[in-house]
Amino acid sequence: MNSIDEKLRPILSTVLHRNAGEQEFHQAVHEVLESLGRVISKHPEYADEALIERICEPERQIIFRVPWIDDKGDVRINRGFRVQFNSALGPYKGGLRFHPSVNVGIIKFLGFEQTFKNALTGLPIGGGKGGTDFDPKGCSDREIMRFCQSFMIELHRHIGEYIDVPAGDIGVGGREIGYMFGMYKRLTNRYEAGVLTGKGLSYGGSRARTEATGYGTIYFVQRMLGTRGTSFDGKRCVVSGTGNVAIYAMEKILSFGGQVVACSDSDGYIVDENGIDLDLVKEIKEVRRSRISEYARLKGVGSHYIKGGSIWDVPCDVAIPSATQNELTGADAKSLVDNGVIAVGEGANMPCTPEAVHSFRKAGVLFAPGKAANAGGVATSALEMQQNASRDSWSFEKTEERLAAIMRNIHDACASTADEYGAPGDYVLGANVTGFVRVAEAMRAMGVI
Ligand code: GLU
Repeated sequence: MNSIDEKLRPILSTVLHRNAGEQEFHQAVHEVLESLGRVISKHPEYADEALIERICEPERQIIFRVPWIDDKGDVRINRGFRVQFNSALGPYKGGLRFHPSVNVGIIKFLGFEQTFKNALTGLPIGGGKGGTDFDPKGCSDREIMRFCQSFMIELHRHIGEYIDVPAGDIGVGGREIGYMFGMYKRLTNRYEAGVLTGKGLSYGGSRARTEATGYGTIYFVQRMLGTRGTSFDGKRCVVSGTGNVAIYAMEKILSFGGQVVACSDSDGYIVDENGIDLDLVKEIKEVRRSRISEYARLKGVGSHYIKGGSIWDVPCDVAIPSATQNELTGADAKSLVDNGVIAVGEGANMPCTPEAVHSFRKAGVLFAPGKAANAGGVATSALEMQQNASRDSWSFEKTEERLAAIMRNIHDACASTADEYGAPGDYVLGANVTGFVRVAEAMRAMGVI
């Protein structure tokens, strides 16, 4: 692992002290500070510890109570969060995660990553993230609606199209955005379409937003493979997760001529040596809202389900971790490397542990960090904001073309920054430094605020 430049170590100590116990946030800050050592030695104007410390400290953190009534009539209480991390480049922008693991440290790490990711898109959006420890699993549609309404009753006073624009993340899709938008509209008596993204097409959503994170990740990896003169064509791929990101990553891999042999949910994974039947996965996850274990039962011959275990034991050429943070460990990376993996693209946010990233780097595996590879989702959210602001609605083709161009630009910016800093092919360095420089430039111009 790279070490942190001496000048930056006090910043890390301050972050650890201020955010005690928030392991994921420490991990994300550590990784960015590791990359910044090179910037400050090459460009002393960035050796401004106070500015770097400001980048590591959220502008505002909101924690609130979310009371709601379940179908039995019992009152339930959850905790809601919104961390407004950095608004140097535009209104805070980032998703809402509904998952029992959510706590302030997880939201902070996601908001921190989001700040650099959003900068990489080249679009005018700052970084933020929110969510709740509410567990939507097993809840009825009515319960989901009541929860979303209660969540928005508090959140609405902190957001706005020029202030902070939430979207979906794990546990939050079109249905939840619809319920939250409805409550926001009622509370404010304003049809402010640009206040949330990931909306349905009938009320201001953007075509290709649902597909964007998964598609964008595959566009990025395709271009990265291109630097070694290869492509997805004929490649054997494993994609963890079966959420929105994983499903549309698989779809794009198939359209690029690759084969997907395994995918997963939080209970286990399926392997189908004939290639995963994506229509069946969509039916199970999006229509039945059920578990992936059903796949083997419905598909039969050639497929099997493994409860627990690690999907990364399945040999592949390209791995696309698209489930959640730290899902791919050092041991998983070792088995991927031993089995000959050539490229890894993070569809989720920080799904590879630092040990895993280290193993990939050592083995010369192409590695695309999430803040670059999965930026297509938020980029298309920014395109949704553009459509809302101009009261327009673009075709799928036009939106996807814009997405593809943005992913190309992100890839090329990361690659050329890595070259410039003497680390060709190091996309982690490329992404961290490119994102940092964009945010830092704007912050410097605005003075100490
Ligand atoms: N949750 C997504 C992300 O991690 C999308 C955020 C957005 O569209 O604002 O980037």
